[in-house]
Amino acid sequence: MAIRKITEFPEDVLGKVGQPVTKFDAELADLCADMFETMYDAEGVGLAAPQIGLNLRLFVMDCEGIKLIAANPEIIGTAGEQSSQEGCLSLGKVPAVVIRPQTAKLKAQNEKGEWFESEAEGYAARAFLHETDHCNGKLFIDHLPKMRRDMIIKRFKKEKNWK
Ligand SMILES: [Zn+2]
Repeated sequence: MAIRKITEFPEDVLGKVGQPVTKFDAELADLCADMFETMYDAEGVGLAAPQIGLNLRLFVMDCEGIKLIAANPEIIGTAGEQSSQEGCLSLGKVPAVVIRPQTAKLKAQNEKGEWFESEAEGYAARAFLHETDHCNGKLFIDHLPKMRRDMIIKRFKKEKNWK
């Protein structure tokens, strides 16, 4: 297992629609182990493959008791609405309030290629949506009005320079 380098905004791979995962082998299992390790090291609750520079539809998450590997994820249902803070490891966790559905149903494949469905609400639903967005080349700031989006990017750049 190894901690991978986290890809940060505005690297190209974060804006690309991921390629489907087609091989469910030992290599994929190793990759997922690395992704979990990288996520825990960064104290995140989810991490998608583009965030370690891979153009793949794959994410891992461990949020509010829901721990899973999701290959080729799709959101197959949502309900309600929630408005709370969200951040991203690829944007230095600079927080912004994002409106999202309150519940989300995820359909994906595990590391063996078996399809499963999982339903979550609140923060975990937010993680489903945020990480699935990554697999579609979308960042949480893309849900914000342009002015707020630019403000988050500015804050992120500023924080980077301070380090
Ligand atoms: Zn993110």
